[in-house]
Amino acid sequence: MYAEVLIEYPTKKIDKYFTYKIPDNLVNILKPGMKVKVPFGSKIINGFVMQIKDNFTDAYELKEIVGVVDPELILNDELLKLGLYLEEKTLCPKISAYQTMLPASLKIKDNDTNYTYYKTYLTLNKSKEEIEKYLKTIEKENNQTLLLKTLLEEEKVLKKDYNSYTIKSLKEKELIKEIKEQEYRIQKEKNNNVIKHKLNEEQEQAFEEIKNTPSFTTFLLEGITGSGKTEVYLNLIEDTLKKGKTAIMLIPEISLTVALVNRFYEWFGSSVAIFHSALSNGEKYDEYLKIIRGEVSVVVGTRSAIFVPLKNIGMIIIDEEHSDTFKQDNMPRYNAKDIALKRGEYHNCPVVLGSATPTLEVRARAMKGVYKHLKLTKRAGEGTLPKVTIVDMVMEAKKRNFIFSDVLLEKLKETLKRKEQALLLLNRRGYSTIINCSSCGFTYKCPNCDITLTYHKSSNNLRCHYCGYTTSKDDKCPNCHEDGLNYLGMGTEKVMEELLKIIPDAKVIRMDQDTTSKKGAHEKIIQSFRNHEYDILLGTQMISKGLDFPNVTLVGVINADSSLNIPDFRSNEKTFALLYQASGRAGRANLKGEVILQTYNPDNYVLSCVKENNFNKFFAYEMNIRKILKYPPYYYLVALKIVSKDYNIALENATKIVNYLKKNVSSSSIVLGPSTASLFKFNNTYRFQIVIKYRFDDKLFKILKYLDSIYLNENKVNLEIDIDPLHI
Ligand code: ADP
Ligand code: ZN
Repeated sequence: MYAEVLIEYPTKKIDKYFTYKIPDNLVNILKPGMKVKVPFGSKIINGFVMQIKDNFTDAYELKEIVGVVDPELILNDELLKLGLYLEEKTLCPKISAYQTMLPASLKIKDNDTNYTYYKTYLTLNKSKEEIEKYLKTIEKENNQTLLLKTLLEEEKVLKKDYNSYTIKSLKEKELIKEIKEQEYRIQKEKNNNVIKHKLNEEQEQAFEEIKNTPSFTTFLLEGITGSGKTEVYLNLIEDTLKKGKTAIMLIPEISLTVALVNRFYEWFGSSVAIFHSALSNGEKYDEYLKIIRGEVSVVVGTRSAIFVPLKNIGMIIIDEEHSDTFKQDNMPRYNAKDIALKRGEYHNCPVVLGSATPTLEVRARAMKGVYKHLKLTKRAGEGTLPKVTIVDMVMEAKKRNFIFSDVLLEKLKETLKRKEQALLLLNRRGYSTIINCSSCGFTYKCPNCDITLTYHKSSNNLRCHYCGYTTSKDDKCPNCHEDGLNYLGMGTEKVMEELLKIIPDAKVIRMDQDTTSKKGAHEKIIQSFRNHEYDILLGTQMISKGLDFPNVTLVGVINADSSLNIPDFRSNEKTFALLYQASGRAGRANLKGEVILQTYNPDNYVLSCVKENNFNKFFAYEMNIRKILKYPPYYYLVALKIVSKDYNIALENATKIVNYLKKNVSSSSIVLGPSTASLFKFNNTYRFQIVIKYRFDDKLFKILKYLDSIYLNENKVNLEIDIDPLHI
């Protein structure tokens, strides 16, 4: 018997099958989709069995498969097919498609680590009668008799809970023994008293409609913030389990939604497995085993959880569908939404995309009837939508208010007086985002990326937020040696400092990438804010999503236009979603909420749509712009990046590719560029960009594949192809 093996060597150059002989001891064990160890060159590496064959005709001698990595880890037939789809759709090597489907702990480097986790228990080594007889012979109760009595009641106890001397003595008398059992690191119980809200009319309607759809159908559940989408999801999943099927629910970032995950545990207990990047390798391994062994029927997780090997899927839900995190921005550049639809089709089940601010693509499809459009228009609980005020910072600047407007400060003070809480959003971390010299004009820049360095006061250094370059700060200008350094542009650290100067007794906690880098830090900050140990949560966009604090009545956005100024076709959409979602954090419960948006563009249309809480209006406006400028959802996009350490080589190749594309794509497609990519110099490489806009182009993928294959063998220049990019 022979096996075709795809080896784990993530370069496209050798992305093909190699044939190995199956040793006799594996003949009945080996199945397609299994991970095996094979000799390759002088090394032993991992690979996936793709096919098993009876015959092999070539004359040369084949090497044998060395062993199976883990007989439980098998990519099933669906996933093997899904890998081919991923290759087709994103132009990635097959092997990186399959690797993406398995948790990181099972990839190349770790293949010799054993993640199985055991607990040691004590149990009786003799019959109960014999133990009882023995106990009668002992006059005085002691630790040993106590343990024996416990073991007469309970079958086993954890070894670590008992004194080692007691254990040793009882073992010597052969009265007890130790047993090891595999344990899962994460174990949660269902809460039988969990509060299940009675669904309101809109929720009920959405629930019924989806529940009664027995086949593959995509739904957009468009529900305003606080409309109770989560409650609908939970009910849908409960119903799915009742039907004997399984469910996947994807969420953008798990660390921000601890409360949500806990709700899943409360409802479904040990039927839930979770997946996200903050789990340890061992935890990931365990959660994966639970799925493979068919012990769980609900998976909640971030992007890559869409690949879990659940069988018999009856429901796929993507919460906060508009989130960028569903698209992976390195190879394979897949979007979990596409995979969800593919799997929904395979399992013939509903796929639900939920959001308060859906992407224009999804919203447009729902309006055309391609997706079914369900709406939740009211807040589910007692909450009402907040009042939004736009503050003109040009006027404030005249009063020398550069960070806080008068009205924001006043509202903050009132909020604290009422013992309520506030969120303050600023999309920049660090202290000062530009440092320049007033006497010579010098500006600190990253030597690798050519963008300004941010000063971090807590660590007293300058950092590049793109490549991580770090350097110390000088007291005098390093260029002219004058005492002229200015700290311009504010980040969260500076806002915090200023805030404490103005309201010294406010208890403020900061949440941004810098304060949340440690495991569990997110949860800690959120929990302590929820417990009202702090009055104000100040942070970057991290704080805008998914959080549900009943006591928050004020949301202040320090610089509402910072993301409007990013030159990207989605910047309006992103800004609207960010501000609308952030506003949705206020007034979640019975308290009235208020939102202050500080801006230098008070007449901006996007902001006025946020003020009116009017997604429809924003949608119509933005669709019109997209139509005129030929952007999605009217056109599809492909972005090509040409990357090289050498500027000239990058430009030369970019020009060559543009010319080739212009000659070969269909006449209705548009080729733009080469232009400098939005991050032109990054980590000492130069990056040019080409954008293709197309509607129907049956030649395009062939052309892209051809270009890709040519650049595979180039060392000095790389071609990165991003199909349906989120940013250009
Ligand atoms: P969304 O995900 O749409 O922003 P949530 O699901 O977080 O909204 O619900 C907002 C709040 O309303 C939560 O506190 C939730 O417990 C509550 N809620 C949801 N559905 C109901 C209902 N039918 N009756 C009363 N309260 C509800
Ligand atoms: Zn840099």
